Amino acid sequence: MTTGNDKQRAMRLDEALMRPSPASPSERGDFIREIVSADVREGRHATVVTRFPPEPNGYLHIGHAKSICLNFGIANEFGGRCHLRFDDTNPTKEEQEYLDAIEADVRWLGFDWGEHLYHASDYFDQLYAWAIHLVRERKAYVDDLSADEIREHRGTLTEPGRNSPWRDRPVDESLDLFERMRSGEFPNGARVLRARIDMASPNMNLRDPVLYRIVHAAHPRTGDAWCIYPTYDFAHGQSDAIEGVTHSICTLEFEDHRPLYDWLIDHLPVPSRPRQIEFARLNLTHTVLSKRVLKRLVEDGHVRGWDDPRMPTISGLRRRGFPAEGIRDFAALIGVAKSDSTIEVGLLEHAVRGVLNRQAPRRFAVLDPLKVVIENYPEGQVEEMDIVNNPEDPSAGTRKVRFTRELWIERDDFMEEPPPKYFRLAPGREVRLRSAYFVTCTDVVKDDAGRVVELRCTFDPATRGGDAPDGRRPKATLHWLSSDGPVPAKVRLYDHLFSSPDPGADGRDLFADLNPDSETVLAGCLLEPSLAAVRPGETIQFERLGYFTPDPDSTSDHAVFNRTLTLKDTWAKVQAQGRGAPPAGSSPSRVEATGAAG
Ligand code: ATP
Ligand code: MG
Repeated sequence: MTTGNDKQRAMRLDEALMRPSPASPSERGDFIREIVSADVREGRHATVVTRFPPEPNGYLHIGHAKSICLNFGIANEFGGRCHLRFDDTNPTKEEQEYLDAIEADVRWLGFDWGEHLYHASDYFDQLYAWAIHLVRERKAYVDDLSADEIREHRGTLTEPGRNSPWRDRPVDESLDLFERMRSGEFPNGARVLRARIDMASPNMNLRDPVLYRIVHAAHPRTGDAWCIYPTYDFAHGQSDAIEGVTHSICTLEFEDHRPLYDWLIDHLPVPSRPRQIEFARLNLTHTVLSKRVLKRLVEDGHVRGWDDPRMPTISGLRRRGFPAEGIRDFAALIGVAKSDSTIEVGLLEHAVRGVLNRQAPRRFAVLDPLKVVIENYPEGQVEEMDIVNNPEDPSAGTRKVRFTRELWIERDDFMEEPPPKYFRLAPGREVRLRSAYFVTCTDVVKDDAGRVVELRCTFDPATRGGDAPDGRRPKATLHWLSSDGPVPAKVRLYDHLFSSPDPGADGRDLFADLNPDSETVLAGCLLEPSLAAVRPGETIQFERLGYFTPDPDSTSDHAVFNRTLTLKDTWAKVQAQGRGAPPAGSSPSRVEATGAAG
């Protein structure tokens, strides 16, 4: 039987096949969707319920985005629901700021948990009652060993562990001690509650894992109500069961925890039976995806904050100008696999360029201005040129841009002594000013230091709009700005935060691999006047230069733009070389735009 969902998926698969994807087509209709599909087909669940369970101890990163797209994506495709559940069992590391940022980021990515916002801390009473249940069933005990002693008793992968001397203490004694742990009688680390499973198990996670520890710390939500907190292992599966989660999808490092997950579900009177499925986490070249490291980058001042445009956080990518759709497309492109791999960061950029190429309005900006005076253009005359807003989207229409006798062009669009293959402006040479006129350089003005400060040119009035009646075609088309009212701006250029594709590999210090040139700030840039009205969150193509977005640091009299990405798509190139196919997304307009730069 084919359901509507299957059809939708088949269509998406077709789309995916049309794109240059490193994921094989079978990965797109991935193994997790196959499991869910079979469960639905065989009537195991009325409704598919997934969850995204972040710990609020930092901001979300692009790896989390993969998990978000997977969990919410599956819920949407199967007509189910996805919960946002904060795994807030570690009060010393968790903060309200992180809770708020995580909600904002998931929403911005385009997903909605409806009324299903939960916290593991919502279940602290229930979890405590279940812990007592395990003690009564002789499946858990209070252990007086210290953390070091517990570690030492645990054994190794090749040696079995040893029982704690407290393992067989009477049930009533454990109950009494657990109660007193809860009431605050003992200091941190004095005792723990452990499951009583098997100290000789080949799976270390089953060697009497800790279920509760004493932590005298206020919790962002429950305040001082508790001084014992459940471990991840004890909270997670039970929270899933309480919420009726059907498929608890997590990353591979939890594969070895699955037997414990199942053991707890088997031994507790939980209301439902969730199933844990693991997939490979996202790793990206030139990037570190670990909240611990990202937090250090922030705290040690290597970046300006969690949302620094160089950070792989969702808030950083947003500030950088990446559209949510580009991130979702990336998640779809990479698919879901069962074994770990590292994805080229160029593929993320490729997905983002695909969206921006379709959607971003084109504008003129000159990052390093060089003055041009058109000698035969009447002084005081102003013409309004009609310029196409987006060649990929006719509905975006055209806009008027002023053309005057004095203009700005990009300094590197001129060379006094051009080498072969440099087709842009040079003395005696004619080029096209995009959608305006052909101009020819007649003279060069220099300052005392010999630096070019101005070009004198003439224009051909017959070429208005950018075409010559005699059909002649200059080899280069340049962008330009009238000297009449451009907006001054600072522009921040970004490169990878880490210069090594594999930061910290071969025992190197991770922070030694930071790219010292990850940010370059250009002052004295000039923008088309309409760009003053653009707000953070909108990404624009500066013609021939790349994609840019205003930074929240912008003020009404001081514009600051971030470069989202350059136009050059190295991933598309790699694909084209590897497969002999034209790079997707390299529309004729873009080829012309970059090609013209010679
Ligand atoms: P980090 O390792 O960056 O500190 P974490 O795993 O501790 O992250 P959590 O808040 O526990 O972060 O993660 C929430 C969910 O996101 C988990 O289900 C986790 O498996 C998933 N997740 C975390 N990192 C990645 C990643 N790189 N790729 C895919 N999913 C991830
Ligand atoms: Mg985690």
